Amino acid sequence: MAGQAKLRHDTFDRAGAQDDGPRSIVILGATGSIGKSTADIITGAKGSFTVAAVAGGRDPVALAKMARDLGAGFAALADPARYAELKEALAGTGIKAAAGREAVIEAALQPSDMVMAAIAGTAGVEPTYAALSAGRTVALANKECLVCAGPAFIRQAATMGTRLLPVDSEHNAIFQALGDADPDTIEMMTLTASGGPFRTWTAEAIARATPEQALKHPNWSMGPKITVDSAGLMNKGLEVIEAHYLFGIEAARLDVLVHAQSVVHGLVAFRDGSVTAGLAAPDMRVPIAHCLSYPRRLTTGARRLDLAAVGQLTFERPDFARFPALRVALDALAAGNGAPTIMNAANEIAVQAFLSRQISFHDIARLVERTCEAALADGTAHEPLSVADALAVDHMARERTRSYLAPAASSGMVTN
Ligand code: NDP
Ligand code: MG
Repeated sequence: MAGQAKLRHDTFDRAGAQDDGPRSIVILGATGSIGKSTADIITGAKGSFTVAAVAGGRDPVALAKMARDLGAGFAALADPARYAELKEALAGTGIKAAAGREAVIEAALQPSDMVMAAIAGTAGVEPTYAALSAGRTVALANKECLVCAGPAFIRQAATMGTRLLPVDSEHNAIFQALGDADPDTIEMMTLTASGGPFRTWTAEAIARATPEQALKHPNWSMGPKITVDSAGLMNKGLEVIEAHYLFGIEAARLDVLVHAQSVVHGLVAFRDGSVTAGLAAPDMRVPIAHCLSYPRRLTTGARRLDLAAVGQLTFERPDFARFPALRVALDALAAGNGAPTIMNAANEIAVQAFLSRQISFHDIARLVERTCEAALADGTAHEPLSVADALAVDHMARERTRSYLAPAASSGMVTN
């Protein structure tokens, strides 16, 4: 299979040409977990960055504060109903305020050297794609972009000659471990998973887990959607798909290991038996700083790795019986035909339904699987080649998943 798909780390190779002055950054999802860590790195690296624009979802006060603290030129909120609050919070600052879907895209398109794509979920697809299409280097945290519309993103990056720098810790570790390796010499890429809060729980206990329990991640502090995804290992499934598109490597050469300490984030095994790996303390500021200053290295206040203090590193195979969401995601990658797009959409609806206590934790994977199977069976599924097509497939899948949640249709499906 070697060489069947071309690894795309070559698209990351060229350094930014703007290394004389500060690098200007747009932060999409500025008020979230990744957004705040990005702000922390920017603030700490005095004089190295300017902030062209920030965008957020629904919190005008938090967004206005972020815009002021970072000296941004433009602040865009996705929720148009809260425009007046944003405008008021920015009054007298000279920072331009805007709201609505188009405003977030406008933020993505403000002149900049790099766009940090850190909106949660599929809401990030359009603005991130707009930035890529305008030739911006994209630091990609939002994995849903590639799961929903991977082929379109990768094709557009190649067409525009732009880079997608991986912020996701596993992909960033693999990117660093790859160096300038010849893709054909790679036997396997391994992504590690912490195993989340339910790593040692029985299947029965996991099935009954509450949102509070799922939101208590042992190693990482992240937004709610990715934290629930991590608890069921769906996050790792999304990440395998992300790696498939990002590095252009087929599923057979992608592996997952559960590694409770979250110290070794990704590994690359070569055909001569050598293995390189990316290690760091579990602190997202490490991969964020790597991307923001790539190919240079910043001095940061990120947590340092103390291996002696960690003591032991353990690795185990994922248990598909207790964590069926991982299998559902891998099946979607194998099925192709738009299944990753459908799976991603169904998962967003299912995670929301779980967080609002409509369904049990167990039901998340069942609901996603049911949506994928039904869409693949009725002949409507197809590989979406454009972002518009991917979003249309995403929309249909959401409607289907919602129909399974409706009380009349859900008998026998959504159970506790
Ligand atoms: P959060 O939920 O903490 O933050 C999400 C951000 O997106 C918030 O600023 C939110 O604003 C904003 N937002 C939501 N909807 C919109 C919209 N329509 N337009 C503009 N902004 C919007 O998520 P995370 O920071 O945890 O995750 C962000 C992305 O990064 C996800 O795709 C995740 O998978 C990925 N990632 C995260 C990691 C982490 O450690 N957190 C690690 C690796 C990847 P508001 O709060 O106002 O709604
Ligand atoms: Mg990750």
